[in-house]
Amino acid sequence: MIPPSLSIQVKSCEAPARPPWRKQLQAGWRSPQALLKHLSIEPQTIDWMDDSPFPMRVPQAFSQRMRSGDARDPLLRQVLPVRLEADTLDGFSADPVGDLASRNERGLLHKYRGRVLLITTGACAIHCRYCFRRDFPYASEHTSPSHWAPAIDYIAEHDDISEVILSGGDPWMLSTQRLQALSDRLSRIPHIRRLRIHTRMPITLPDRINSSLMSWLQSLPWQTVVVVHANHANEFDHHVERALDQLRRAGAQVFNQAVLLAGVNDDIDSLTQLMERSFAAGAIPYYLHLLDRVQGSAHFEVGEPRALELMQAMRERLSGYLVPRLVREQSGAAYKLPVF
Ligand SMILES: *Cc1c(COP(=O)(O)O)cnc(C)c1O
Ligand code: SF4
Repeated sequence: MIPPSLSIQVKSCEAPARPPWRKQLQAGWRSPQALLKHLSIEPQTIDWMDDSPFPMRVPQAFSQRMRSGDARDPLLRQVLPVRLEADTLDGFSADPVGDLASRNERGLLHKYRGRVLLITTGACAIHCRYCFRRDFPYASEHTSPSHWAPAIDYIAEHDDISEVILSGGDPWMLSTQRLQALSDRLSRIPHIRRLRIHTRMPITLPDRINSSLMSWLQSLPWQTVVVVHANHANEFDHHVERALDQLRRAGAQVFNQAVLLAGVNDDIDSLTQLMERSFAAGAIPYYLHLLDRVQGSAHFEVGEPRALELMQAMRERLSGYLVPRLVREQSGAAYKLPVF
């Protein structure tokens, strides 16, 4: 028998186990004031607000990467509700990319040829203030597997669809069991060749990438692509690196898309560091999106001339494969429009 004192010593050498991802989700920050206090930022120094209809939501795994005492931290800026969001500006609307108009079945977007985007859930682990889905009518979107039936029928009837994109919200907010139920149904459709997952959870709550999710990913009968979303180099830490590494080991191709955001990454150093860091962690830079002009996000907008200048500077500094494609989503267009 090990004497109690010894067994305590042995235990203390191990890293303390982190709670399961759902527990971490529940324990996330919901009060701007509490988050600011935790970061030792004087609430008076920042124009936060408490009563947004799109409430704050930040996992601690993400806030741990914010700098203490820095009211201009690029991660904090992405998630802290501020009064500027209440401004209404011309040209900013609730549905800037025409998603509401292009839904042909409940929760299915078929805007581009060959691929469809399935809104699997409205939930996200984090609430990004610039999000173009902040005004999306999630309550009426798919919430249970039986609701996917019309979307799955639609995919089955269109044999020109070779790629299904699971999106949301964040599809990895669903339990692995629900994902399995969905992929089982999709696997009966012979013309599907690829499954793509658009998720921010490997960045915002990396413990979601657990062994059951990995078994699911490995069991899929298609080539799999995971597109994560990080906007700043500081969003990567060793937990994120581990999560991305696991995705790649499970056979997924991993890409990163970012949004060009004023005060977050609209300078050449931030962008080059983001692309380098993302690639080092195993995620190849994919798109750099111009902001979708969703109401409440005007303070994040970077003008096109400045965006083009930044692209030019990236080309001068980065290996070709690290330079993302600058795109703008336009309602009614057949693809995400490249910006030259
Ligand atoms: C972004 C998007 C896609 C994927 O476009 P890619 O250019 O293939 O990355 C597909 N469908 C919809 C509705 C989209 O918004
Ligand atoms: S994780 Fe993606 S979908 Fe969710 S709030 Fe952020 S940007 Fe929007």
